[in-house]
Amino acid sequence: MELRLFNTLTKEKEAFAPLDPARGVRMYVCGPTVYDFAHIGNARPVIVFDVLYRLLRHLYGEDKVKYVRNITDVDDKINARAAEEYPDLPLNEAIRLVTEKTEKQFHEDVDALGCLRPDVEPRATEHIGEMRELIERLVKAGFAYVEQDHVLFEVGKMSDYGKLARRSLDEMEAGARVEVAPYKRNPMDFVLWKPSKPNEPGWPSPSGIKTPGRPGWHIECSAMSWKHLGETFDIHGGGIDLVFPHHENEIAQSRCAFHSPVMAKTWMHNGFLQVEGEKMSKSLGNFITIRELLDTGKFGNKSWEGQTVRLAMLKTHYRQPLDWTVKRLWEAEDQIVNWSLRYDDIVEPLNNPRLKLISKGPHPEIVDALLDDLNTHLAVSVLGQLAREASSNQETLPTFLSSADLLGLMPLRPANLDYENAARRDLLDRARPLVEARNAARANKDWKESDRIRDELKAMGVVIKDNKDGTTDLEIAR
Ligand code: AMP
Ligand code: ZN
Repeated sequence: MELRLFNTLTKEKEAFAPLDPARGVRMYVCGPTVYDFAHIGNARPVIVFDVLYRLLRHLYGEDKVKYVRNITDVDDKINARAAEEYPDLPLNEAIRLVTEKTEKQFHEDVDALGCLRPDVEPRATEHIGEMRELIERLVKAGFAYVEQDHVLFEVGKMSDYGKLARRSLDEMEAGARVEVAPYKRNPMDFVLWKPSKPNEPGWPSPSGIKTPGRPGWHIECSAMSWKHLGETFDIHGGGIDLVFPHHENEIAQSRCAFHSPVMAKTWMHNGFLQVEGEKMSKSLGNFITIRELLDTGKFGNKSWEGQTVRLAMLKTHYRQPLDWTVKRLWEAEDQIVNWSLRYDDIVEPLNNPRLKLISKGPHPEIVDALLDDLNTHLAVSVLGQLAREASSNQETLPTFLSSADLLGLMPLRPANLDYENAARRDLLDRARPLVEARNAARANKDWKESDRIRDELKAMGVVIKDNKDGTTDLEIAR
């Protein structure tokens, strides 16, 4: 089977092949704006594109995939947070402290979710020179203009502006606010560069503007993808909310600056995540960070393992909307516990060289599921079957482990799961059908069978007590 990916540009699932096989696969994903803890919605693209990264490395080789995810460290929210947290420090120093701290937290969080680090994580502030150069090219080529110390991209100059989002310029203009900024020729024109206000970070401006300024948001991704992947590359990803205007504008900037028909060949977008059926927002009080899930018990009165969070995310296909619920997390945890319970000796086989030798990589059904536009829902259910199979045939264990690894679900025995409780639940689950069989035997007055089952339960460590009202209590013998 070949890799097929849904491309937002064409609205079709397409066969994927690298543009330049010699250079390998080049992928860019829009990363976090670093001013606060990342929320569980932000975790979705990180996990989704980590699965894609793992799959591409499996298909093309580890040194034939380059994954770039930027860090946005120029943003109004960062400035505000810096001023609030460190009012006595010079702004630049305060911004540095906020962004460094947040970047570290982000890494800790997504590491815990089993995500590999991208090959490059460029910061916007380290690419201001590239942004200026792109802007100057756009002005020279007539796609952008300078007005009141701003530089604006003139959308009317690009014949197929709106192609990604499938919106026509006329429609967009009709919907635009009446109050248009005085420096814009057209309401849809967007900012490439703007003057810095007092108390904002600033850099030397492009295109002959004398006062210091700062980049607009979209230009950073055009600059950083150019620097690290080239003018044209294979895959560009992010959440569905980024299609318009962010990705539409990235395309406009890059294609017009390089006079190229293509920026990225395949555009991929994950669906949105909501919480217990509602849009996540601070005002609704259902805003939830990755850190809170992992550490605080704020969601479901329990701290969840990173793997549980990851599995819970992968149970839904990446393009579907996803409802983040406590129930979903419990289901994922039960599944992981169940897999691990079957392999109490999971660590042993991992160290067993004979088993390592017979591992031929992940199971083809798991690979096939992922080849089909990352069908993680199917891959996870196949993984469950492999777990069952491996419990009766240890020879298949390495295939199971290697399949779990392809999905980033290793190691399988995290420290903090409530194994004791889970083991009890598992034991009682297995005991219940036996109790029913025993009740049936008693109803038939088959005392021999009823005693046999009682002994079987006892051997499993389950003691039963018959109540006067005909019910039976189960207890786990200590
Ligand atoms: P932001 O920091 O808001 O720019 O978001 C960083 C990444 O997270 C982008 O790819 C967004 O599309 C994505 N994202 C933000 N909120 C959600 C959500 N609720 N569900 C899924 N993805 C989201
Ligand atoms: Zn971006």
